[in-house]
Amino acid sequence: MFFLEKIPQDLQEIWSEIDSVNINLDLHKDKVEQNKISIREAEEEANSIESNIEALTNKKNQFFVLKIQLEEEIKQHYSRLSSVLNASLKDKQIIPSWFMVFGYEKNLDAYQEKVKNMTGAIFSMESSLSKVSVDIGMVEDFLSDSEFKKDGVYKSISKKESELSASLDALEQFNSTYKQEITNLWHKRNQLELEVDAETILTYRGARWELPLYKPCEGRLSSPFDPKRLHPVLGYVRPHNGQDIAAPKGTPVYAAETGRVIFVGERGGNWAGLGKFVIIQHAEGWTTRYAHLSKILIDNEKAVKRGDLIGLVGSTGLSTGPHLHFETRKNDIPYDPQPYLKSDEK
Ligand SMILES: [Zn+2]
Repeated sequence: MFFLEKIPQDLQEIWSEIDSVNINLDLHKDKVEQNKISIREAEEEANSIESNIEALTNKKNQFFVLKIQLEEEIKQHYSRLSSVLNASLKDKQIIPSWFMVFGYEKNLDAYQEKVKNMTGAIFSMESSLSKVSVDIGMVEDFLSDSEFKKDGVYKSISKKESELSASLDALEQFNSTYKQEITNLWHKRNQLELEVDAETILTYRGARWELPLYKPCEGRLSSPFDPKRLHPVLGYVRPHNGQDIAAPKGTPVYAAETGRVIFVGERGGNWAGLGKFVIIQHAEGWTTRYAHLSKILIDNEKAVKRGDLIGLVGSTGLSTGPHLHFETRKNDIPYDPQPYLKSDEK
């Protein structure tokens, strides 16, 4: 990666955008959690109301049983009273009036007492009955209150459930937007890096590509450019993407054309064979490479002029002896350098 001074600032903005996206995502998640908690609370309330209703209904049923019992007892008492009165009527053959009944009874006091007890019992039962009826009325009021409250709670639960589903939808929506946004931000970041690279290289005013090139090293052409070469060290066919110039170790290596250094050093993988090498970027998409150096005498990112000393011949990497491996590439495609060099031999 070259010339990234501009990137950190732009990247910082992108990262703070990502942060704000994350904060919003958390807010959405919080809302969903709150909705869930509030539904759970409402459900607990509904359950407690339900059990309250159950208790009230039981009480109401008990009161009903009591009421029926009382009514039955009162009925029995009335019928017993009436049979007592009838018996007295049959005996005495008189009109059924309390006064008359009392008047003609032989054991008047006992009879009076009996009737009095019976009517007293009836009276007390009737007052119990009316009290039970009031209790039933009260329980029914409580019940209808509870039912009303229960309806309210269930309505609020269904409202909360639709709120929850709405916030889940929003969360999902946000998630997919968020993913898209992150992708966009990464894309933007990569583009920025590319732009900065391109800008740095293209705006380097001195970059040129004028043929013939400056000869990078004095020496003998020991191995030409050959896409089907049998590799001297590896022993199998591998394209030779440049030309080899045999020269003693320490022979100066020069920049073939004016441009900017875009790589110095060693690299692994497919690059390992090059040993220590330098890449210079020139105009019109052209680059030159200088490999197997014993020493590199230029820094990365430096501007160089045609003919500047950039290193010394060596035998680093995959090499059978000291030589310069020299490449010319346009848009990274290797071309035979020989036609671009002014040949003294012809
Ligand atoms: Zn070579």
